[in-house]
Amino acid sequence: MGRTPDFAAERKRMVDRLLASGYIRDPRVRDAFLAVPREAFIRPEDRDDAYADVPLPIGRGQTISAPSMIAIMLEEARLRPGERVLEIGTGSGYHAALLGRIVGPENVVTIERLPDVAEWGRSNLAHVGLASVTVVVGDGSLGYPERAPYACIMATAGAPRIPDAWPAQLAPGGRIVAPVGATRHGQVLVVATLGPDGTLRIREGTPCAFVPLVGEDAWPE
Ligand code: SAM
Repeated sequence: MGRTPDFAAERKRMVDRLLASGYIRDPRVRDAFLAVPREAFIRPEDRDDAYADVPLPIGRGQTISAPSMIAIMLEEARLRPGERVLEIGTGSGYHAALLGRIVGPENVVTIERLPDVAEWGRSNLAHVGLASVTVVVGDGSLGYPERAPYACIMATAGAPRIPDAWPAQLAPGGRIVAPVGATRHGQVLVVATLGPDGTLRIREGTPCAFVPLVGEDAWPE
């Protein structure tokens, strides 16, 4: 008989580690990580590793990011309750769930190019009570103008550059948090803020390795 994991205890230990190492500083980010059961977004065969600080496969050659990477992105976004967020790359739905806990699920739109992955993410979100997160199938390199403007556009796939549509869909003072890099599998995390004059102030942060953003204004298929 295998042991039954105590996911709640593992979740608390993961958050303690992320706090101790400085990845989490904002209490809202902490509370979101404590509230969302990561195991509900992991394939059954990998659930023993649900709270390890590693990316895990989610099928179709895609991954769910390591918790520390997600924490870095959520901290960089400086989100407040009620702000509208567009996530590019739904995947499992875990990152969207955390966003939903911070800004309110009705304020989160997440877009995924692979319909079967989007459906899996949608059902995972519903399973943890976050069915009011909007999951859209489409090419996030074009943003999602239907719900713009956004206080934040957060990409969880690596772009060759910031697509033109993203700054155009930001609210004043809005932020883009996205992995950007000259190769398909290596990036730096870029944080770009829309200034009052309409220009983007760009800061480059942590090196990272996301799967590529594939789309019309991104990497080719
Ligand atoms: N945020 C996800 C999670 O919490 O599980 C992980 C996302 S995974 C690293 C990147 C996702 O971006 C993949 O599911 C991939 O299919 C998707 N993707 C790649 N290019 C895209 C595009 N142009 N538009 C929307 N989704 C895209």
